[in-house]
Amino acid sequence: MRKIIVAIDGYSACGKSTTAKETARILGYRYIDTGAMYRAVTLYFLDHHVALTNPKEVDRALEQIKITFRVNKEGRSETFLNGLNVEKEIRDMRVSENVSQVSALPAVRHAMVEQQRRMGKERAVVMDGRDIGTVVFPDAELKMFMSADILTRAFRRQKELLGRDELVDIDSIISNLLKRDELDSTRKESPLRKAGDAIELDTSHITVEEQVDEVVRLALARILARKN
Ligand code: C5P
Repeated sequence: MRKIIVAIDGYSACGKSTTAKETARILGYRYIDTGAMYRAVTLYFLDHHVALTNPKEVDRALEQIKITFRVNKEGRSETFLNGLNVEKEIRDMRVSENVSQVSALPAVRHAMVEQQRRMGKERAVVMDGRDIGTVVFPDAELKMFMSADILTRAFRRQKELLGRDELVDIDSIISNLLKRDELDSTRKESPLRKAGDAIELDTSHITVEEQVDEVVRLALARILARKN
């Protein structure tokens, strides 16, 4: 059977990762959370006080960083930074508040994109992020671009943080999401934008099941389509 790449891009907290994970599980594909990679780099930079304005320091730090994913006993993919499980820490607000500045650095993007391309070399991956359909895999067979209204996104993110015992007021979440959208969409290097051939999916008024059904349906159509 033909193996494809499913690229899921869009704004923060639109349900990209939930949809990508479940789609990958159903298709038997590998799920790659590229946001987790930028978050892991940010965590390292914060912990090691890397000056973002010093390109040499940034390059040196990037050489020290090894990001890997492992599937845990419950079948969930977890992020490891230099062998340490950082899955929980990279979701903290202190990382969310700095990740868009770190991910805007060209050196950081080049390092991550190279690794992401290697991970998708064999295809059979569902990758979510901001530039997957535009930069990482412009030849992806299926490109989705997800959005949702800001309140829906903020409440979803608040619930997710609450589930991890982090109580953050809704105004702080809204301002973090809007700030990240703005930084991610206006940066010079591979800004967040919808690829010309991406299919838009607004998740404001649909359930997770409906989101997943739609992406799986589109993916299966492409897997089954015969190339001329
Ligand atoms: O997907 P998530 O919200 O965890 O991503 C965190 C941040 O990582 C984004 O706000 C963005 O700054 C950065 N990112 C990126 N390119 C990607 C994935 C994430 O710049 N492909």
